[in-house]
Amino acid sequence: MANAAGTNWAANLAYSAARLHTPSSVDEVRRIVAAASSIRALGSRHSFNSIADGTEELMSTAALTGPVRIDREAMVATVGAGTRYGELAVELQSAGFALANLASLPHISIGGAIATGTHGSGDRNTSLAAAVVGLEFVTAGGELARYDAGDPNFEGMVVNLGALGVVTEVTLAIEPTFEVAQSVFENLSWNAVSENFDALTGSAYSVSMFTSWQNLDVFDMAWLKSRVGSDATPTLFGALPAQGERHPIPNLPAVGCTPQLGIAGPWFDRLPHFRLNFTPSNGVELQSEYVVPRRFAVEALAALRFLSAEIAPLLQVCEIRTVAADDLWLSSSYGTDVMGMHFTWKQDQPAVEALLPALEAVLEPFSARPHWGKLFTTDPERLAGLYPKIGDFCRLVRDLDPEGVFANPFLDLNVTGAAASRR
Ligand SMILES: Cc1cc2nc3c(=O)[nH]c(=O)nc-3n(C[C@H](O)[C@H](O)[C@H](O)COP(=O)(O)OP(=O)(O)OC[C@H]3O[C@@H](n4cnc5c(N)ncnc54)[C@H](O)[C@@H]3O)c2cc1C
Repeated sequence: MANAAGTNWAANLAYSAARLHTPSSVDEVRRIVAAASSIRALGSRHSFNSIADGTEELMSTAALTGPVRIDREAMVATVGAGTRYGELAVELQSAGFALANLASLPHISIGGAIATGTHGSGDRNTSLAAAVVGLEFVTAGGELARYDAGDPNFEGMVVNLGALGVVTEVTLAIEPTFEVAQSVFENLSWNAVSENFDALTGSAYSVSMFTSWQNLDVFDMAWLKSRVGSDATPTLFGALPAQGERHPIPNLPAVGCTPQLGIAGPWFDRLPHFRLNFTPSNGVELQSEYVVPRRFAVEALAALRFLSAEIAPLLQVCEIRTVAADDLWLSSSYGTDVMGMHFTWKQDQPAVEALLPALEAVLEPFSARPHWGKLFTTDPERLAGLYPKIGDFCRLVRDLDPEGVFANPFLDLNVTGAAASRR
């Protein structure tokens, strides 16, 4: 049956798989995978491209939740892969624990977020995938496998693009709960950003700068999330504190946003931009994101200014963040601290896709890696060249899934096919 699985969150993609399963136990996952010749895991549907799609069957992880198991000695929490970060956060908080960081939206599934290298912001904060210390997944043929940090190839398994199997359980590093105060500053001058980039992004635990690429003299806003008790009270290079709460997209009501105005609160209610109990928008948007090694940050931003007249008409807002290096093979911050340039576009996909090659050409000298779950048009050959361990990842895929049960056209084009042509 066509469109049996419906659409992604933004509704810019109708999944083409003919069948959707929603198992609620690991045994069920094993049985379904063992019987399938082509199947893909589907998380909370927040990706904007066809990375999750499958030609035959999809398996929603929405019911793979179950109770959170906290190991206080080891400081880890084990959780069903379909659990959303916001749901885990509430459980952790009530037990006195926290995750180091979260993405802008708490509604995203843990299995889906780690599969694409989803990240938040912060000079010393790694991608969310880097908090993973253990994975359980069902491999092709329906076997249940468990891998832990330190096992051979573990660094290749976490940002897995759904290519290795269906992750059923994830074990994450946790820490004692902490409080965060969020402050928004307005009209941060471009010159201040160019001249003080490191000081700016280092001025709080997590910093995001927003521009609509319309006024090239200032960034519209900077959002500073400071850990209470460890960061100094923020002051910001001449930018003034906002006089009320703000939404990242100028002029939208802030009702669904996490509390601001410097009022301290629990980590999970400040680190994302959006509250768990609100839908931040109705999904009428598209997203792209490119990360560049941090040493190119100021140069890359300056280069993009020349494309501002083309970017601005299609844009809702652009967010600049930083992410610390990790050693996960397909993470966009593999081996290097990065700056991310995230674009929330208006939902005009033909126009956005027509602009992306020009945007990618501007960023090419800076070795820009696109977000796996967002729109990009980067040449697959070039993409493969941006990931030194992509050949090892393809070997892992062949070892664990020799028949290509978890393959799909997105992976064939962008990962497995491109890497193969480089050998
Ligand atoms: C409003 C919004 C805000 C966002 N904010 C951020 C942000 O702050 N930072 C950021 O980096 N990204 C962000 N994203 C992007 C998002 O985090 C990624 O696209 C992420 O992959 C979505 O997770 P998902 O559960 O929806 O996965 P899906 O989109 O359903 O799937 C993505 C991939 O994960 C695989 N997958 C999912 N579950 C499993 C599993 N259990 N086992 C194996 N593979 C699995 C799928 O096969 C697919 O390859 C945002 C997206 C939206 C819509």
